[in-house]
Amino acid sequence: MRILFLVLAFVSASAFSQQREKEGVEVQKSRLLLLPASTVERSATQQYQQLMRAAAQKGLLNNDKAQLERLRAIARELIPHSQRFNKNAAKWQWEVNLITSKSVNAFCMPGGKIAFFTGIIDTLQLSDDEIATIMGHEIGHALLEHGRARMSEQVLKNVGISVAAAVFNLGQVSGELLAQAANLAVSLPYARRQESDADLVGLELAARAGHDPRAAVVVWQKMSGLARVSAKGGSGQPPQFLSTHPSHQNRIKEIEANLPKVLPLYHRKRNP
Ligand SMILES: [Zn+2]
Repeated sequence: MRILFLVLAFVSASAFSQQREKEGVEVQKSRLLLLPASTVERSATQQYQQLMRAAAQKGLLNNDKAQLERLRAIARELIPHSQRFNKNAAKWQWEVNLITSKSVNAFCMPGGKIAFFTGIIDTLQLSDDEIATIMGHEIGHALLEHGRARMSEQVLKNVGISVAAAVFNLGQVSGELLAQAANLAVSLPYARRQESDADLVGLELAARAGHDPRAAVVVWQKMSGLARVSAKGGSGQPPQFLSTHPSHQNRIKEIEANLPKVLPLYHRKRNP
């Protein structure tokens, strides 16, 4: 009897751990990663530092302690879970800054360089959970190396396939070209598949950090509301965020369909 009980306990424990392993979202790895991750991260870091210096010189690097600490606290909650999607993330020198700008925008460059614009927080009146899902989405792009794929693509386009082999040594690639590619990595729209995957990573990071992943639905509702207002000739620009993260009709539906995969993680974190 006792043995039977032990066996049953073992079976149910392994079924439970299997179920736990199945929890979370499924995403695709990037292809066409011609440029080494270290090169991409170094170049992105230089671009990020230049951008922050330029913002500081113009007095636009926001030092509002409460707002900055709010962003950095959310990042500290999300980051420990990032290795589930990219093991190298453990070595990243993460940075979070706030830029004073009406632009409704946020990004995370390769290597974990995050920036939020005051415009996205103020215009959309973001809650902490909503910030967590946006930041998680941006971190998702970096973890899935969408920027690295884009930079590789750009460099290939510019130096030509014939010297692609040489690119592995990077002797042929000028710093300028890399810088250009790094800029494009955050200023061009992502593909739909990349957007969906970044959404999923964002949901899971937020949920594991104890932020309600359902906030992602609210974010996209607010975002499309804002786009509708500006399309009707209302005040303000269309959100910059939408030009780099094209919304599609099914986005909210896809997020909602994936919530059951991450809500248990959120509930467990909230009520351990
Ligand atoms: Zn995106």
